[in-house]
Amino acid sequence: MTSLDRRSVLRAAASAAGAGALVAGCAPDRAKDPGAARAARGPGPSGAGRHPPAPAARRPTRVPGQGAQIEHGPRDGRAVALTFHGAGDPRLATALLGEAERAGAKVTVLAVGDWLDEQPAMARRILDGGHELGNHTMHHRAICALPAAEAYAEIVRCAERLRTLTGTIGSWFRPSQTRRATDLVTSLARKAGYPHVLSYDVDSLDANDPGAPAVRRTVLDSVGPGSVVSLHLGHAGTVAALPPILDGLRRRGLRAVTTTELVT
Ligand SMILES: [Zn+2]
Repeated sequence: MTSLDRRSVLRAAASAAGAGALVAGCAPDRAKDPGAARAARGPGPSGAGRHPPAPAARRPTRVPGQGAQIEHGPRDGRAVALTFHGAGDPRLATALLGEAERAGAKVTVLAVGDWLDEQPAMARRILDGGHELGNHTMHHRAICALPAAEAYAEIVRCAERLRTLTGTIGSWFRPSQTRRATDLVTSLARKAGYPHVLSYDVDSLDANDPGAPAVRRTVLDSVGPGSVVSLHLGHAGTVAALPPILDGLRRRGLRAVTTTELVT
């Protein structure tokens, strides 16, 4: 993709973002619960099964020495994990993965289940780039506020999508609209097959669309060895911020790796 092409993709996506077409961020005060609107429309088209399983899908890993919730990896290493809420315009997602790959970086995408229903090819695209894929619930509702049965269904339904598309339930589970899971959600995730819940220690605040320089500054001001950084697919500012973030990490001797590589 030429830089001209990239700019037009970003412009198109930025105008979509301005129209409120993209999915809200992970934090409770930024959430718009797009799942409720989709539920009212009924199930979307399912592309499950149309794509052969991606060979690189990892199963969840139990990490000795880590608690039920993982917020960061080793502080004495040189690795960090850039972790993404997986939803939004697939052109932006593809542009972001391309930027990561140009810089030799790996990322972790926690995919929302109904996004996978709409964009089933993205699961394969993520894994084929050497990145990691995980579960970010079926509809991105405020999972910690749901009754147990509904919260469990949110986890399991996304896990089923991932299994159909990739052969595994994904490497990690991240709860929706919260930084940390409640004990109940942690136990439901464990029951669904995820030994850990993936939290984070650096919030990029990129879902507020503050502009690429602000996203870069927020990340580089807080990141350190072992950090797990929360970011979002589907935001043009995040795509534009990624190259300078990766450059800043490199200057500090830090490498962006998959979450599994960070913590194991
Ligand atoms: Zn999210």
